[in-house]
Amino acid sequence: MFSASEIHRLSEEFEAKTPQEILIWAVDAFWPQIALSSSFQTQSVALLHMASQIRHDLLIFFLDTGYHFWDTLIFKEQLASQWHLNVLDLYRDTRWDVFMRQHTRALPVQDANLCCFLHKVQPMQRALKDMDAWISGIRRDQTAVRAHAKILELQPNGLLKINPMLNWTKVDVKQYAEENHLPSHPLFDKGYRSVGCGPCTIAIGLNDEERAGRWAGREKIECGLHTEMFQHRNVAEMQKDFQLDVSLMDT
Ligand code: SF4
Repeated sequence: MFSASEIHRLSEEFEAKTPQEILIWAVDAFWPQIALSSSFQTQSVALLHMASQIRHDLLIFFLDTGYHFWDTLIFKEQLASQWHLNVLDLYRDTRWDVFMRQHTRALPVQDANLCCFLHKVQPMQRALKDMDAWISGIRRDQTAVRAHAKILELQPNGLLKINPMLNWTKVDVKQYAEENHLPSHPLFDKGYRSVGCGPCTIAIGLNDEERAGRWAGREKIECGLHTEMFQHRNVAEMQKDFQLDVSLMDT
């Protein structure tokens, strides 16, 4: 639809645009083959709100890993109901069910990369297979990896990833939330500044980095949706590049 050079040019142009302007362009250009992914935490609410103002029937993917806090699931249902959002929950491939029955408790700690691959990366790859564009809520100020992201990123399979919030800071998000009286995730005020799955999220102090409570004390800082991991199509490739715990896979 767009050539690589057009995407590069537009991405540079969008550096000076607001998230809303980028979203409007994206919806106009790709409807209906476009979806937004959201983790339904406080940081996600601004983008969800903007999207709902543009098209409340925009497809929104939520990765239901089975490890979420109840607070997240309830918050998601409340927002979806209040704003009439078109949310589709994504689950791991059922072919992993036998394996997961044996490893549900241990896997997030024993091999978080494999766990994220099964519960986040693979379901998102599958859901995006028939889409032309994917809207994500990442920001450059969140992690070192995200600092190098572009507003438009063409994936090797032709999917266009669109990051409209990239230039916003956590201060911008807070200001937008205040101006629009947006709700926050119920765990936010308890110190959970960034909320992921229960086994991999802890509360942090006011002066800590926003994502310091995610996989705290471990090497991991990203689930894999926004890294090289997303280009891996199967566990064999993952085993080679991410040193998965092979003893787990033998069971
Ligand atoms: S964040 Fe933790 S529990 Fe959730 S999928 Fe990744 S490793 Fe598993």
